[in-house]
Amino acid sequence: MDCNLCPRACGVDRAVNLGYCRSTDSMRIGLVSRHMWEEPPISGVRGSGTIFFSGCNLGCVYCQNYELSRGNTGREVTPKQLAEIFRMLDDSGVHNINLVTASHFIVELLKAFDIYKPRLPIVFNCGGYESSAQILALKDAVDIWLPDFKYSDASLALKLSNAPDYPNVALESIRLMRTLCPKDIYLDDGTMIRGMIIRHMTLPSHIDNTVGVLNAIKDTVGTDTVISLMSQYYPCGVLDKYPDIARRLKPLEYKIAVSHAQKLGFCNVFVQELSSADGAYTPDFNGYLGDKGI
Ligand code: SF4
Repeated sequence: MDCNLCPRACGVDRAVNLGYCRSTDSMRIGLVSRHMWEEPPISGVRGSGTIFFSGCNLGCVYCQNYELSRGNTGREVTPKQLAEIFRMLDDSGVHNINLVTASHFIVELLKAFDIYKPRLPIVFNCGGYESSAQILALKDAVDIWLPDFKYSDASLALKLSNAPDYPNVALESIRLMRTLCPKDIYLDDGTMIRGMIIRHMTLPSHIDNTVGVLNAIKDTVGTDTVISLMSQYYPCGVLDKYPDIARRLKPLEYKIAVSHAQKLGFCNVFVQELSSADGAYTPDFNGYLGDKGI
């Protein structure tokens, strides 16, 4: 059957071919791990139980998880096996189960939730390029929405992710996620059990894009929204055609981004040290599953 699940609507029959997301209808996972480097309300002190799915419907030219998103590394997992991973994470001591770039496997995800409903909060960690139908399909399963909002500039979205409709799609997604989860709820230890955090990776040479992103978030969901303003960009992949992003972020660029968030009145902003811009923070996607991966 032709797949038009996500806004890419590439119409590929995933039973026989790879979609734009580099995925067939067999779910693949690159890594299951205890992740200590998410935002503090997600990682807490015991870590977030991340499940990194293979493939991605964006395919950004600078992707820092390129091996997984375009190389489609990892191993095939059935919904039953995914349910077992949920169960294992439930018992592992992590704060939550964090589904990373899983939008193109929603059908399989829902089957896994039917088999086993985790006790831990479910984090949906996505690129922001999801349709309303995808988000609504997950509304009873997801507790914490963790979308990217990458671009306010459609021409930049076209150039770097071949998705000129990204700004509109992402804003609609964020609006809907906020409607589904209107209030952020935390435990006494500071970990979030329900709510939304919007991530934005500040790109070198494109501070206007970041300013536009912050303005749009303010206008769409307000300044009490938790945002994570990331500075960890480092050049990845083949960037010969993109000299503007073939370097790390300058301290002044990041300072402008943080100052703009403050000026707009955002009261919950996570910022990063520029020293975090290092490939050492990129996980090794070796298809390692099971309790040894935790
Ligand atoms: S989920 Fe993948 S195959 Fe389906 S429309 Fe999106 S990119 Fe294409």
